[in-house]
Amino acid sequence: MATTKTLGEVLRENGVTRRGFLKFCAATASLMALPPSLVPALAAALEKARRPSVIWLSFQECTGCTESLTRSHTPTLEGLILEHISLDYHHTLQAASGDAAEHAREDAMKENFGHYILVVDGSVPLANPGYSTIAGITNRVMLEEAVKGAAAVIAMGTCAAFGGLPAAAPNPTGAVSVGELVKGKPVINVSGCPPVPLVITGVLAQLLTFGTLPALDGYGRPLAFFGQSIHDRCYRRPFYDKGLFAESFDDEGARKGWCLYRLGCKGPMTYNACATMKWNQGTSWPVESGHPCLGCAEPHFWDAGGFYEALSVPTAAIARTATYAAVGGVALGAAMGILGRTTRQKATAQRQPVSVDELEQTP
Ligand code: SF4
Ligand code: SF4
Repeated sequence: MATTKTLGEVLRENGVTRRGFLKFCAATASLMALPPSLVPALAAALEKARRPSVIWLSFQECTGCTESLTRSHTPTLEGLILEHISLDYHHTLQAASGDAAEHAREDAMKENFGHYILVVDGSVPLANPGYSTIAGITNRVMLEEAVKGAAAVIAMGTCAAFGGLPAAAPNPTGAVSVGELVKGKPVINVSGCPPVPLVITGVLAQLLTFGTLPALDGYGRPLAFFGQSIHDRCYRRPFYDKGLFAESFDDEGARKGWCLYRLGCKGPMTYNACATMKWNQGTSWPVESGHPCLGCAEPHFWDAGGFYEALSVPTAAIARTATYAAVGGVALGAAMGILGRTTRQKATAQRQPVSVDELEQTP
């Protein structure tokens, strides 16, 4: 189902200027931890890229992940790219229904066998096959069928990546993550409840331009986006470092924008890109609007609970503790965090600003 048009042609048709396109490439390269010298190559490759096939399945989820992706007020560059590379089959967004929808899925899988990118949001219930079915097919069977011809699988959102809310105790449906069922294919976890839309664009941009998968952290998440904690990039961090904390949501500290740690902020244990990418086209993000981070991009965040309770680990250990799982006493999580941190530091060290004016001089 590939179109004959390249991405560059589609963007020009939609009035995107070369400068706007280069800005997007520079930002994407920075987020992907690419050195500035690779930005022209990224721009050239993206411009010539043709549309790959993407099949998107939705299982036990709330549609928040899809809602997040479609939440743009005007056609952004990311939106156009996503539109251009999307979507041969999408449970929620497709116009087709019934038999026609199922035929579309089967045709897309057959025509692009071995090449399509499979995106899945939602967890998979194993306790009783009847808990979640589509066209009479259980989620597990549909996933296993679709995985066979996929080049790579993206587990979109915390439910798909880690089980999320459906897997919270007592986990009545026996929900598991996508990665627990997929064997022999690369799985990229894009966690978050919901995930930040630009992250999937970034992952797809890398697949399109270099034909490679992104470097992943210990939880299978792209390091370029999950390489630093919310706390490391939070604009309230100077208040944390000075010991200035809001104690309630309407005290003087809250009005002055002090740190939300004592109101339950899980930013020190949470790895996601909210603090830099923000939400709703860069308008704001939870901490900026006065609410603590709940840690939604980490495994077990529902069961860890205590959304409005301060973390019970020594503050000196927080700044460099890598995983939220460690708070729940999961030693493995701490070990993986240390492993991931070394790689994260490498990825961060490569990020440098790049001038769009210089890029415009490149052919
Ligand atoms: S604890 Fe939360 S509010 Fe405070 S600096 Fe860290 S991320 Fe920001
Ligand atoms: S600020 Fe924290 S809880 Fe809110 S969306 Fe980002 S990672 Fe999730």
